[in-house]
Amino acid sequence: MKLLVIGSGGREHAIAKKLTQSPLVETVYCAKGNPGMAQDGITLVDIAENDHQGLVQFVKDNGIAWTFVGPEIPLFEGVTDAFEAAGLKVFGPSKKAADLECSKQFAKDLMKKYGIPTAAYETFEDYEAAVAYVKANGVPIVIKADGLAAGKGVVVAMTMTEALDALNDMLLQGKYAAGKPKVVIEEYLEGEEFSLFALANGAKYYYSGVAQDHKRAYDGDKGPNTGGMGAYSPVPQVSEAMIQEVLDTVVKPTVEAMVAEGVPFKGVVYAGLMITAKGLRVIEFNARFGDPETQVIMNQMASDLAQVIDDILNGKDPVIEMYTDRYTLGVVIAAEGYPEAPMKDIPLPDLDTENAECIVYAAGVKAGEQGLLSNGGRILLIAGQGETLQDAQDKAYRYLNANPIAHTFYRSDIGAKAIRFTEK
Ligand code: AMP
Repeated sequence: MKLLVIGSGGREHAIAKKLTQSPLVETVYCAKGNPGMAQDGITLVDIAENDHQGLVQFVKDNGIAWTFVGPEIPLFEGVTDAFEAAGLKVFGPSKKAADLECSKQFAKDLMKKYGIPTAAYETFEDYEAAVAYVKANGVPIVIKADGLAAGKGVVVAMTMTEALDALNDMLLQGKYAAGKPKVVIEEYLEGEEFSLFALANGAKYYYSGVAQDHKRAYDGDKGPNTGGMGAYSPVPQVSEAMIQEVLDTVVKPTVEAMVAEGVPFKGVVYAGLMITAKGLRVIEFNARFGDPETQVIMNQMASDLAQVIDDILNGKDPVIEMYTDRYTLGVVIAAEGYPEAPMKDIPLPDLDTENAECIVYAAGVKAGEQGLLSNGGRILLIAGQGETLQDAQDKAYRYLNANPIAHTFYRSDIGAKAIRFTEK
């Protein structure tokens, strides 16, 4: 088979590389991809993610069996609808089903209607009413912009000033809003956060791993929120029983609810969860794999991803086996100044993506005259693998220490909390 992956980050590098490892696969194309992927035998295609007709035409001209959509924006813009209208097979939810991620209000209302555990909330368009609600409920409180916020647009307000500033930004200034500004105001939750992934096909779903991300820029969960500075899988703090509970009380009712609402979901259901003192709660849903969680999850999947997706797209039940006797831990290398003002065009060393000890995934990289240059905030991810999380972490940091890159930084405590947990 020939396959196409849409996207250009580290997540798409990991998905495309996993697909190239399948004996069923002849060529994996990636649009647009990035030059760090090329050495893994991934073929780059210079068509933009939002050029739906260009992508459809490419797939038709090249006899591509099916397409995997990596990022959320093309889903929100209806790329899968364009593919299906052209009679092409594509793995990813329709524009409407992607509202599970795109519209905080859609997701919250669905959870309320179908009894899926989540934080208490109210939705507001009116600024004065929102202010009154926040004043009545006090802080800490969480304010989320509804719409196309791409991982941003969530303010966990610890003070009243932060809460009122967020309402001003989102409702009066229209920050993050695609149309009429709207916010979801939520009860503040505290506890262990993790992500669970399942591949869904209508009411059917197939478990495909858990991971923990590190959202803050600096060690000790300090600094601003980022796209994610590192991840590991599996998560020792999350028991088998907890995974089963998420599948039974979150994933199953959610995919069934989507069918009942007339928007069946085909693609990756990513549940962002928290284990609170009052029990399990959904923080959010995403409609695609996470970045950087994918870069570790793909290494924990024992099954052939191409076979799995091919089965789903042909209406069969895939078998997804995850390794239980090993861990993968990934550390993101970011540009100095990330996330506010990442330095540009940092010269990068030649990538050794199949280093003896680690796997290197390329994200924000581009070709320069002398070699690769940085092209964005998150540049590379270094993944270590071992029989224990400590092993995996040691390998990743050994590589990072041995291969320093000027004008970049990384967190030095990815996985530390989990390792402390396993030592208890
Ligand atoms: P989201 O985009 O909804 O995942 O929110 C981004 C981050 O904000 C999450 O990963 C949490 O760390 C935090 N967050 C979101 N909702 C809540 C909540 N209700 N209580 C506490 N923290 C939250």
